[in-house]
Amino acid sequence: MTITGPIVEDTIVPPGGDWARVVRHGERVRIVDLEGKQAVDFLCYNAADPEERYNAADTMKYAGTIFLTTGHGVYSDMGRRLFTIVGDTCGRHDTIGGCCSAESNLKRYGKTGPANCRDTFLRALARFGLGRKDVVTNLNFFMNVPVGADGGMALAEGFSKPGDHVELEAEMDTLAVISNCAQLYNPVNGFNPTPVRVIVSRPPGPAGR
Ligand SMILES: [Zn+2]
Repeated sequence: MTITGPIVEDTIVPPGGDWARVVRHGERVRIVDLEGKQAVDFLCYNAADPEERYNAADTMKYAGTIFLTTGHGVYSDMGRRLFTIVGDTCGRHDTIGGCCSAESNLKRYGKTGPANCRDTFLRALARFGLGRKDVVTNLNFFMNVPVGADGGMALAEGFSKPGDHVELEAEMDTLAVISNCAQLYNPVNGFNPTPVRVIVSRPPGPAGR
């Protein structure tokens, strides 16, 4: 899938790295899983009023599924679309598993470090004056959380292949934040965390975009 419009940012985010940017209405964010099987934790906010932010439960209710893909909205807690998913070559993402933290790693695996997504989110959010209270249940692109008919769930190895991507179009000015997960203690990164590429483009659109 080709990039639409001029590229305004093209960044490689290493495992354990963060990325954050105000994405203007109409701009697109493409996240490329360069080597495959890499979970990318994602949060987003209304840039003008970050108290309005991603709401996982409402997003799933509006989509009618827990597995988000092309065409689904990424909704705020005010019932508005922050983003629309406009491209998805993987087809499996998660928004029930949340992000890893030092505390959950210690509880589940008896280990902490080398990096966890909550601290990575906090590092990025601090640049925008946001903090611990602003970390809510997030989206996890390319993360595979299968849910069985009996309600059983697990954190499993992802389906993404090298070069798979997801692309989001901003429906308002948003603050988008990524933690590229460095988790080593469960299979979500195939026990081998790898870099991702984030490309922001500005497709031609109506005046004012
Ligand atoms: Zn993580």
